[in-house]
Amino acid sequence: MTAAVAPAGVQRLAPAQAARWRALGERLAGIAARHPDAALASSLAAEDMVLTHAIFTAGLPLAVFTLDTGRLHDETLAMIGIVSQRYGRAIAVHRPDAAAVEQHVTLHGRYAFYESVELRKECCRIRKVEPLRRALAGRSAWITGQRRGQAVTRAQLPLDEHDPVFGLHKFNPLAEWSEDDVWQVIRALDIPYNPLHDQGYPSIGCEPCTRPIRPGEDVRAGRWWWESSDSKECGLHAGNVGKAAVGTRQSIAAPLRAGGTGLDNDPSESKT
Ligand code: SF4
Repeated sequence: MTAAVAPAGVQRLAPAQAARWRALGERLAGIAARHPDAALASSLAAEDMVLTHAIFTAGLPLAVFTLDTGRLHDETLAMIGIVSQRYGRAIAVHRPDAAAVEQHVTLHGRYAFYESVELRKECCRIRKVEPLRRALAGRSAWITGQRRGQAVTRAQLPLDEHDPVFGLHKFNPLAEWSEDDVWQVIRALDIPYNPLHDQGYPSIGCEPCTRPIRPGEDVRAGRWWWESSDSKECGLHAGNVGKAAVGTRQSIAAPLRAGGTGLDNDPSESKT
C-alpha cells in the first residue's frame, strides 16, 4: 500500500493542523489497506475536497464519486472538471433514474420539496439515495466528509461505524475536525474548493434547497431551511437522525471569515 506522502504546503500548517493532516493520511491508508474497494462519496464541498486531496496526492487506490442530482449549482458541477485537471484522476458521477425523476416531477411538480418533509425526502430518495445505493453496490465500505460540528444530527458522529442503512462499513475520518482545521488545510495546501463557500454557503447541496447563511447561524442552517434542524438529513446519512442528541446542539456559529469558510454538503443534481 502506498503510504501517505506529505504534499507541498504541509510546512505552512500550524502544529495542530499538521498533526491532524498526518493522522488523516494514516487513517485513509489504513482504510485502503482493509477496504481497498472503499469509496469517498463527495459532495464536492470543502471537507470532501480535503479528503479528495489526501487520497489523490497519496496515490491511494480509493475511489471518489459524486451524485449529480440534476439540481446542483453550476459552480458545484464545475468542480468535477477542476479536480480531474488538478489531480489527473476522475470523480465518478452517478445520476438518478430519469424515469423516476420525470414521474415525480409530473406528479408533484419541480418544487414539491417545499410542500412537505415527505415530498422533500422522496425527492432526495430518488435523486440521491437510490443513486448512492448503486454507487455503493458491491463495496465493503464508504467514506464521508461529515464532521461533528456541522449539525445537531452529527454531534455524536463516530470515526467509523456500521452503516445499517446501506449494510456496509462507514468511515467519517474528519469527524473530529473543526471548521477551522478544514480551512487551514485548504489554504495551506492550496486545495481547490467550490467558490460558493466564499459567497456565504458553508454547506452546499442542491441549488433550490440551499441558501447562504446569516452571521450566527449554524453551518447547515442554509440546508432545507424551512424544516426543523433535527430532521435535516437527506437519507444519505439517515442513521444520524436517530443519534441526534437534543440539547447538544453545538454553536458552530460560523461567522463567515474573510476569504470564505466552508463545510459539508451533499451531492446534488442538475435541472430536471
Ligand atoms: S436536496 Fe436535491 S434531492 Fe433533496 S429535495 Fe432538494 S432538490 Fe431534491
